[in-house]
Amino acid sequence: MSTFELISKHGDHEEVIFCHDKAVGLKAIIAIHNTTLGPALGGTRMWNYKSEEEALTDVLRLSKGMTYKAAASGLNLGGGKAVIIGDPKVLKSEALFRAFGQYINALNGKYITAEDVNTGVTDMEYVFMETPWVTGIPKGLGGSGDPSPYTAHGVLMGIKASVQEKLNTDSLKGLTIAVQGLGNVGSNLVKYLHDEGAKIKVADIDQQRVKKQVELFGAEAVSSESIVTTQCDVFAPCALGAVINDLTVGQLKCKIVAGGANNQLAEAKHGEVLRELGILYAPDYVINAGGLMNVFVELEGYSSDRAFEKTRRVYDNMMKVFKLAKELNVSTHVAADRIAEERIHTIGALKQKHQGKSSRLFTTLKEVENR
Ligand code: NAD
Repeated sequence: MSTFELISKHGDHEEVIFCHDKAVGLKAIIAIHNTTLGPALGGTRMWNYKSEEEALTDVLRLSKGMTYKAAASGLNLGGGKAVIIGDPKVLKSEALFRAFGQYINALNGKYITAEDVNTGVTDMEYVFMETPWVTGIPKGLGGSGDPSPYTAHGVLMGIKASVQEKLNTDSLKGLTIAVQGLGNVGSNLVKYLHDEGAKIKVADIDQQRVKKQVELFGAEAVSSESIVTTQCDVFAPCALGAVINDLTVGQLKCKIVAGGANNQLAEAKHGEVLRELGILYAPDYVINAGGLMNVFVELEGYSSDRAFEKTRRVYDNMMKVFKLAKELNVSTHVAADRIAEERIHTIGALKQKHQGKSSRLFTTLKEVENR
């Protein structure tokens, strides 16, 4: 498929930028999907893609996802993402990330980057040497550090909203919650759930991580093969994508699926199957937006308290999704998409009417530029 065919297949992206610097080995693609609500924010992924087509497909898909996540979360951000092509173990260097920073700088704040798979704080520090349009820089430089405690806190809020909706209670005390994956997000979530008095089941392919949560919080260890189908009130996927698929969906023994992992539904049809089975699904990009809320606060001048405060909004965002799903008689992931699209449409029309003048956003961007 040709480059332009691929771009038009994956949506109405505003801009796709190809970055090439032979001297430092940089081959990168920045995709800006939609900036109606604000600058396009999304991390930079570094991956040894098999082909340039695979890299382009990934960045187009991921940047569109960021538009929906920001919009459904009530943030004044658009959707964007970047990929750097190549083996991180071989290619990473100060020069490569500084060259990449130059490309970002040329976009004048239309795209703001952050860490993602295989990129970290040090890499973002190099980008920051060339441009202010980067988040996830070290705390000492005004950054927000590790986003996962905020993501996990948002997930907790989303679980509470789901429990309220499905089980008609705001308390997690005595409910059984099965957490799949005990990495950055999962381990923070277990701590929060323990504080709420939930009974916790845990699984990870890394047995050391399981042992730690059992010892610290009295969680019950479950094998990584059976966690998806274990009896529980809430199944919280915090590891891989596509965990709700043809094989697993009929075997679930939970009332709610609500966790931090990205792309939990293998295909959109699995959201419909969950609805038919009477299992409430908390759409992934709404429940796991706490990390994005955290970097948004970084743009305004970072405060951890304010970031935690913002993640509480996941509760209301989720309730809005459940309400609309009932009103329209559609599955929750369809309702989430509608909320995102409606907000982009409404705010877009408002901005057009007032000739794009948004003093609040302008101030925020000026603050970033002056860092
Ligand atoms: P992580 O790599 O720190 O943790 C993932 C954990 O899952 C690891 O401990 C790994 O061993 C475990 N795992 C892998 N395969 C498994 C399996 N089959 N069964 C059980 N456990 C398995 O990643 P993370 O930062 O905690 O992110 C977890 C998920 O949340 C990902 O899908 C990520 O995209 C999503 N997410 C993370 C953030 C964030 O702030 N870190 C924000 C939004 C979404």
